[in-house]
Amino acid sequence: MSDSDTNAKPAGETRDLTILGGGLVGMTLALAAARAGITSHVIDRADPADLVAEGADGRASAISTASWNLFRNIGIAESLAPLGCPIDSIAVTDGMKPGRIDFTPKPGGELLGGSLGRMFANRDLRIALFDAARGEPNIAWHVGTEAVRRDRGPHSVEVELADGHVLRASLLVAAEGRQSPTRDEAGFALAKWDYQHRAMVTALFHDKPHENTAWEIFYPAGPFALLPLLDDAEGRHRSALVWTVAEKDAAGVIAMNDAMFVNEVAGRMHGVLGAISLAAPRMSYPLRFHHAGKVVGQRLAVIGDAAHGMHPIAGQGLNLGLRDVGALVEVLAEGMRLGLEPGDAQLLARYEKWRSLDAFMVMSVTDGLTRLFGVPGRLPSAARRLGMGAVQRLPALKRFFMDEARGMSGKLPALLRG
Ligand SMILES: Cc1cc2nc3c(=O)[nH]c(=O)nc-3n(C[C@H](O)[C@H](O)[C@H](O)COP(=O)(O)OP(=O)(O)OC[C@H]3O[C@@H](n4cnc5c(N)ncnc54)[C@H](O)[C@@H]3O)c2cc1C
Repeated sequence: MSDSDTNAKPAGETRDLTILGGGLVGMTLALAAARAGITSHVIDRADPADLVAEGADGRASAISTASWNLFRNIGIAESLAPLGCPIDSIAVTDGMKPGRIDFTPKPGGELLGGSLGRMFANRDLRIALFDAARGEPNIAWHVGTEAVRRDRGPHSVEVELADGHVLRASLLVAAEGRQSPTRDEAGFALAKWDYQHRAMVTALFHDKPHENTAWEIFYPAGPFALLPLLDDAEGRHRSALVWTVAEKDAAGVIAMNDAMFVNEVAGRMHGVLGAISLAAPRMSYPLRFHHAGKVVGQRLAVIGDAAHGMHPIAGQGLNLGLRDVGALVEVLAEGMRLGLEPGDAQLLARYEKWRSLDAFMVMSVTDGLTRLFGVPGRLPSAARRLGMGAVQRLPALKRFFMDEARGMSGKLPALLRG
């Protein structure tokens, strides 16, 4: 790594990529590109020490099998492996009423294929990525600064940082998350709406072991997810909680003291994990949908949440961003082998064609699920449970959903294959 204070190489050096945003997706891109011999500048306005501070990001992410393959291929799986809790089954229920679906791959059976994914604290993911980036000479990391000028010319891209450094590259990549100023400056239209939902996020201690099961409990007010985490150092069982509440109720839930909050949460868990208590600070995130109609422009590619943001109901946001990474690196590496430069318009067109269908499918399914289970009343609930019963009884349909959860469906970039 080199950053603006301790630069081993001059900041103005021309690299293949300038990646704006070094979050989970942007930094994974930098590493995956670096391993393929593609050099980059990575700029993040945050200080990495702040991003990995205890309590800075209390979320945990379900990493699909395909995303895990990517982590293995870029060399961070070894340090992460001891920190991840496998998800061996997913239980989906309509408000804990009878008729749930269990997605459990049977060892040696038709529905095999190992775990459905792994749960990691976002903090652990960031630490692994940042440590790897520090040892990677193909990455020049500029922290605590941002772009004040972006010029995408016909032959190269120039970015001026707040501290006056000017960086040059062949391709600009926007990975600044939902509020991406680079995407907005490029004028890419966004389809967006607000779910009027807020996710209450924390971790719980519980008496009973979770047996590596993730629970998706759908209530009309919003989904309620319990995601298995590893036991802590004292052997206490833990799960991550993502409880979606209507925006109009959010202020009331945030204002609850911890005892009231735990009581409300326990009321929605029907004792599945026994007695519970808080294991982490409480945080909340507003939930919105957005999808950029275009993800490439002259010498520009948009990836991760800058391109698409969705409800966390199916744990797909980061996984989708990591598929963007795999596709972009594959397209660039192949093009560069043929003598093209990374900012070549043909390569960008190939990236956009590859990614747009997958992103649209995942976003539509996630949005549909959120709406389907959000319809209140006995009749819609009965219809949902009938549908769930059908899925439960049909192995082929179940396998389809499990492949989706593992991220193994569709045309996968090589970096995400086994
Ligand atoms: C409650 C919740 C639970 C979730 N659970 C899951 C899950 O289980 N599985 C899953 O796959 N996904 C999950 N997601 C989605 C996932 O967290 C996001 O998709 C993912 O974090 C997106 O990563 P990103 O790098 O694109 O954006 P971000 O994480 O937003 O990172 C953007 C980075 O850019 C930097 N930045 C921003 N603006 C600028 C600027 N102007 N200049 C320079 N730098 C800038 C920021 O500092 C940050 O480091 C969840 C989301 C929520 C809200």
